[in-house]
Amino acid sequence: MTESGTTAPQSPVAQTIDLLGDRLTLAILREAFVDHARRFSQWIDRTGAPPAMLTARLTALVEAGLMERRPQQNGGDRHDYLLTELGMATWEILASVWAWQREWSPEGLVQPELVHIDCGHRGPPALMCGHCGRAVGTRDAQLELDRASLVLVARSGRRRSTRNAPSVSRVDLQFTEVMEAIGDRWSAMVTGLALSGVRRFGEFQSILSISPTTLTERLGRLSEMQILTRSERGGGREYVLTPRGRGLFPIFAFLLSWTELAHPDALPLGPRLRHPDCGSWLLPALRCRGCEVAMERTSVRFEPFPFGTRLPR
Ligand SMILES: [Zn+2]
Ligand SMILES: [Zn+2]
Repeated sequence: MTESGTTAPQSPVAQTIDLLGDRLTLAILREAFVDHARRFSQWIDRTGAPPAMLTARLTALVEAGLMERRPQQNGGDRHDYLLTELGMATWEILASVWAWQREWSPEGLVQPELVHIDCGHRGPPALMCGHCGRAVGTRDAQLELDRASLVLVARSGRRRSTRNAPSVSRVDLQFTEVMEAIGDRWSAMVTGLALSGVRRFGEFQSILSISPTTLTERLGRLSEMQILTRSERGGGREYVLTPRGRGLFPIFAFLLSWTELAHPDALPLGPRLRHPDCGSWLLPALRCRGCEVAMERTSVRFEPFPFGTRLPR
């Protein structure tokens, strides 16, 4: 895992993990969605992030096409940062992250809640297949693996280490637990493979071409975080997803589908999800648990928690 500086082609999936597998970036997007933050000072105020770090993340979001920088009406050389359509399209990823946090993490209570405007239902949505309209559980979808593409994910380009990034410790932007699963490429791939049914150490290792040391470390961390659990079966050690780990499935499904949106011209590089029930690629979508209708971005509202009040500092 020391390929920084190589000329390997960029894997779209790797770019997505690098961009969105970051606590501050998720916090920036959250404030943009929930509080309609658009100014540098608003994010400084809400996240407490060091200015240089915030600048770097906003620049990355602009370069990746999720935000656009626009001069303020009367602000001299100041700019607003506005979500583009591609940025808006991350709402299902964010909603899935929040839903997971609310269900599985003590930090979750500070995450926003999704409200379906059409029926008034509030609470986490269900995952459905947009092609056939059926509800989708972890076991209802298959991850199609192209091994070469997985290696490409791991090796492509240069990656930023989020693990060693300075902690941004304001209580309302903690995504610590979910970042153990999506915060770097190896963890994301190990979790993704586990979601696709891979269980044995040797299988993870041969698919990912990962060093035993790195794999042991990631499997250990994911087990500590109760995303995986170790079991001895048939003389071999297996790593099986816990319910908490299986709950990550919608996040991965939306990360993959957003990647296709963000890289429409890319060759089909990387893992894809198939929905055997309808024989099609899984088109992940969110369904309201109140009225059972597919949710659109324009039919939902994000409410901060506690409702309508600012978080204590
Ligand atoms: Zn389907
Ligand atoms: Zn509804």
